[in-house]
Amino acid sequence: MRYISTRGRIEPVEFQEAVMMGLATDGGLLLPQRLPVADAASVARWRSLAYPDLAREVIGLFAGDLPALGALVEQSYATFDHPEVTPLVEVGDLYVLELFHGPTLAFKDVALQLLGNLFEHLLAARGGFMNILGATSGDTGSAAIHGVRGREGINIFILHPHKRVSPVQELQMTTVLDRNVFNIAVQGTFDDGQAIVKAIFNDIPFKERYRLGAINSINWARIVAQVVYYVYAVLRLDAHEVDFAVPTGNFGDIFAGYVARRLLPGRIGRLILATNTNDLLFRFVTRGDYSKGAVVATLSPSMDIQVASNFERYLYYLNGEDAERTRAMMEDFAATGRLAFDAGVVAQVQQDFASRAVSEEETIATIAATYKEHGYLLDPHSAVGLAAAQHCRRPGVPVVCLATAHPAKFEAAVARAIGRRPERPPALRDIEKRPARCEILPADTEAVRRYIARHGLQ
Ligand SMILES: *Cc1c(COP(=O)(O)O)cnc(C)c1O
Repeated sequence: MRYISTRGRIEPVEFQEAVMMGLATDGGLLLPQRLPVADAASVARWRSLAYPDLAREVIGLFAGDLPALGALVEQSYATFDHPEVTPLVEVGDLYVLELFHGPTLAFKDVALQLLGNLFEHLLAARGGFMNILGATSGDTGSAAIHGVRGREGINIFILHPHKRVSPVQELQMTTVLDRNVFNIAVQGTFDDGQAIVKAIFNDIPFKERYRLGAINSINWARIVAQVVYYVYAVLRLDAHEVDFAVPTGNFGDIFAGYVARRLLPGRIGRLILATNTNDLLFRFVTRGDYSKGAVVATLSPSMDIQVASNFERYLYYLNGEDAERTRAMMEDFAATGRLAFDAGVVAQVQQDFASRAVSEEETIATIAATYKEHGYLLDPHSAVGLAAAQHCRRPGVPVVCLATAHPAKFEAAVARAIGRRPERPPALRDIEKRPARCEILPADTEAVRRYIARHGLQ
């Protein structure tokens, strides 16, 4: 399987190279030359497989020749605290797919545990090193750190906004004391951290000298790891057709759902795209209006996003795989901050997606009602998905709601809904008492660049 760019101006590359490249060198995103379609015999065989075995099969369709894949997958999901990895549970007349059984209790572990192992494996094969650099608003940073802690040939530098992530999120990063982990608390906002990371990646000599690597959600390996749990849920339910409700920020998780839908024709009906009040993608699906708004802080902070970095991948398919057209539209969006789609295109989008923008009140009410009626506790992100599912569901079609974080990660929001804090799982118990390490730096590119130069592998 070879990979092309949504903007059409790179020579096709192999999976391994696509993983190391992250963003395509022409500014586009990488996609397989052809999306795979599973045949009936494979699907029948997959039904009885345990999660890691299914992951090897599904990821294998995208990875081509990678003999170590089985071992890497096995290793990646051995860190999860549930034997099924992503268990499917019934909550009232909906299904919830729990994606939060990994080391940092959010769905990002599913992809970043594998990406850490892939990086280490590919570097060992090539005899190299890398320095991972990223900015986080909370969940991605800790999942990435836990994905590469203690690895040979990899140092990781994660910038978070000083005292602007939740206390639990901060501690999940700073209490990891492996010598290859460097937490930097930037005295500024998430956007300041993001701008610093961008500026350093744009310094090409520095980037090459330190072999800077990215872990953000545009990495194809992250998408492909997430395709697996959609397939897993479809096979577990064994219904004729299933809808999925997906709480969305960067369009990464739901794009994995789109790839799964193409992989299993007829088995996934509609993807219900759930946003919080940052409703860019809701406006796109319902009105064809993809225009940047101002970011508002909500109870589901991992979805407080107004530019969806994976949207370009879907746009490429919406454009009938026309890379030149996709490039022109993305350049237009970069210049104007908006794209408008006509009614015909909107109708086409609505074959794939339904959508709902869920208010803060509705989020709290959904956590409260689900707990009261079913004794099941949702985190605020998962509650956004469940609320959208209740609104967009169709008679007779089962809906699987993706639960993207454990409620104990967002204690304050949960306490507001049910009047008490959720019980903490072992990974978080006493986390405040553990030793922590973190460098506090001004929101200044030079200061961060100097810090990386001092502590980076080279
Ligand atoms: C990152 C995140 C999301 C959004 O995922 P995308 O792939 O950006 O759409 C939803 N919920 C939680 C808990 C997250 O950490």
